[in-house]
Amino acid sequence: MDDFTRNLEKYAELVVKIGVNLNKGQDLLVESPLESLELTRLIVKKAYEAGANYVHVHWQDDVITRSKFEHAHDEALDYYPTWYTEMLERFVENGGALLNIKVPDPDLYAGIEASLISRASKAAATARTKYQQYVRTSTFSWCLIKAPTVAWASKVYADLPEDQRVEAMWDAIFQMNRVYEEDPVAAWRVHIEQLKRVRKLLNEKQYKTLRYRAAGTDLEVDLPAHHIWLGGDKANASGIRFVANMPTEEVFTMPDRTGVRGTVSSTKPLNVNGALVDRFSFRFEEGKVVDYQAEVGYEHLARLLEMDEGARYLGEVALVPYGSPISNMNRIFYNTGIDENASCHLALGSCYPINIQGGASLSTDELKARGGNTSLIHVDFMIGTSDLEIDGYLEDGTVEAIFRGGNWALVF
Ligand code: ZN
Ligand code: ZN
Repeated sequence: MDDFTRNLEKYAELVVKIGVNLNKGQDLLVESPLESLELTRLIVKKAYEAGANYVHVHWQDDVITRSKFEHAHDEALDYYPTWYTEMLERFVENGGALLNIKVPDPDLYAGIEASLISRASKAAATARTKYQQYVRTSTFSWCLIKAPTVAWASKVYADLPEDQRVEAMWDAIFQMNRVYEEDPVAAWRVHIEQLKRVRKLLNEKQYKTLRYRAAGTDLEVDLPAHHIWLGGDKANASGIRFVANMPTEEVFTMPDRTGVRGTVSSTKPLNVNGALVDRFSFRFEEGKVVDYQAEVGYEHLARLLEMDEGARYLGEVALVPYGSPISNMNRIFYNTGIDENASCHLALGSCYPINIQGGASLSTDELKARGGNTSLIHVDFMIGTSDLEIDGYLEDGTVEAIFRGGNWALVF
């Protein structure tokens, strides 16, 4: 076995054991690009070795995904098959676990009108409401992982000769997932423990407000009473712990939907449903985006904010040190799942109800009353910089330094 195959097998084992933490008797659904055949075969093998009852692979392909926008009749863009979402719902209710190899081509929808993309994603999000609720409340174990595709690697490593790009991307993915460690599973357990210390301290603090300051940013974000910081792993409805994103470096909670004031500027490009938005900023009043700008992809950003009422409010606030391992790679990966773990970020749209005590069992109205936002979208955007300062305001008015120079000022 060569080094690459050995690392690939370690990676497959890691995502099955730590990512979805597959238990004996479970079904596993793998959503995989065609290009990830070798990895997916190993994942299937590791899943059966871990005791899976049944592994189903749902193959995906960018050319096929794009085809609908190029060739389907107009009304087809507002259609999403309910039989498909019913299958997903049944799969969750049956105790299944999901592993998604999420690596969309950053330029997948280049040249396609923004309104078509937003219509199709609205139809999908609407049809998938119940399933998304299962995802956001961690009813089941789900894990998003990465693997190179030629299109994606070519975008990220455009500075390298063509025949070295995919290899460079694998190297980055192995590195950021600790695959080069002798025992990646053990290394992840240590990493998860560290994130647990961070979230524990923040949960004890119960800051009322966070204030962000950096070039182009002066923003206050209120946190609701009884908010919960999460990070690393979490438990599903059956108590099985899983890691929703690999890699992960963030701790995150929910903002109070009407308690966001000021201006915030993005620091990395954003991939919105396959379209690129870059160098943008938002101004918030009473939680709502009241003004925004974008040097690249303004139209796509506008469509996103028009998706529904909740799209103009925040649903997540996440802290990631500027000195995190992924950040130190000094690359833009044009993939939110990676870039968000290199940078402090916020998300427009739906909150995770599990970020507030008792949240998973709240109705939409109850959640809203406690400060949680709901929307068809959840889109993370990056705001971390080397000069970012974050202060935390305690209940009694005391101000504490949380971040200085882009990194933790709190000691864990
Ligand atoms: Zn996040
Ligand atoms: Zn997010």
